[in-house]
Amino acid sequence: MPKQTVRDLDVKGRKVLVRVDFNVPQTKDGGIADDRRIRSALPTLKDVLDRGGSLILVSHLGRPKGDDPAADAPYRLDMVAARLAELLGKPVDKAGDTVGPAARGLAAELKPGGVLVLENVRFNKGEKKGDPEFARALASLADAYVNDAFGTCHRDEASMVAVPERFPPEKRAIGFLVEKELNILDTLLKSPKRPYVAVMGGAKVSDKILVIESLLKHVDKLLIGGAMTYTFLKAQGVEIGKSRVELDKLDVARKLLDEAGGKIVLPVDHLIADRPEAGATVKTTDGTAIPEGWFGMDIGPRTIAEYAGIVKEAATVVWNGPMGMFEVEAFAAGTRAVAQALAESKGVTAVGGGESAAAVEQFGLADKVSHVSTGGGAFLEALEGKQFNSIKVIPDR
Ligand code: ADP
Ligand code: MG
Repeated sequence: MPKQTVRDLDVKGRKVLVRVDFNVPQTKDGGIADDRRIRSALPTLKDVLDRGGSLILVSHLGRPKGDDPAADAPYRLDMVAARLAELLGKPVDKAGDTVGPAARGLAAELKPGGVLVLENVRFNKGEKKGDPEFARALASLADAYVNDAFGTCHRDEASMVAVPERFPPEKRAIGFLVEKELNILDTLLKSPKRPYVAVMGGAKVSDKILVIESLLKHVDKLLIGGAMTYTFLKAQGVEIGKSRVELDKLDVARKLLDEAGGKIVLPVDHLIADRPEAGATVKTTDGTAIPEGWFGMDIGPRTIAEYAGIVKEAATVVWNGPMGMFEVEAFAAGTRAVAQALAESKGVTAVGGGESAAAVEQFGLADKVSHVSTGGGAFLEALEGKQFNSIKVIPDR
């Protein structure tokens, strides 16, 4: 069922509390490394402002301790508020606290068209605990609530669940970003056009078991790459040299291969290195086995050709997890080729996961796929088939 969206809310002259996901990656000196998450919230924010509402924005950033102002200083949201002001082209107020006197004062003074960013919600112990008192204090600042924080939707924190519960049902909604993310997930899990192909890679099988199990029910083919390859190959008795492997997951890998009924496709060759780092000596294997002493770092050229062909022919593609250690240029070809194949596909193409999204951005291909999810954990848990409390609490339309 479609959820009530910000479109359905009467916002004129109202203060709208929007739970946004401004948890941006930070540079070493505390700057914003990538403002995609801020930009992704703009459609919802502009809609409220254009219709005569005002905005109270609440987000977390990083993993602050919450009780040590000096240690937590890098997680203050001032630079996020400044970037938002640039993107909106209007002044943005920033409160020094989340529900304290500063926030209450600025919220009370907020005029239609005004924008207020509250301090990092995780500076409050009540946030993680879903504390009702904290939720009441936060909710009391505003007239209506919008969840546009897809990247946090899998968490039952106060600002995601207990806060919306404080508002009457007709004053709760999802924003345009969450709507878009839920729509693409609906396509992937309920109505994909076929052939439907999943590409899974990344560091560990253990992170992805539930997603693989879930996707196997839906997809026609599931292509494996990344370090998890070697756990699957080892499970089949193939030599993997010194490649990354999870020895305690060999049984799981075997079980997945059995269940898959031939849907799982594994690499037929690899790019290998004598050391898992830049500057290493690299070569390509002839077949699936990796010689003693060598590390598997990326999928090989024959695998690249095979995977790119399958992806380009697909009507629906979901991709999570890099094909190799793409952060090192010498090991990036497989990940780049898969990203390129998604970009060239005429079907629906969705990318999710922190590093996978970063890779697509890095290759300049983000605009060429149908959707790059702003959620890492949330995207994966949704693909596992989990229902989020943060979404359940928003009424259907
Ligand atoms: P995502 O964040 O997209 O879900 P993961 O977190 O599962 O992806 O995995 C990403 C990491 O996996 C990358 O940092 C990449 O370097 C690493 N990785 C992929 N293939 C290999 C490999 N062959 N050897 C070592 N690390 C790898
Ligand atoms: Mg990751």
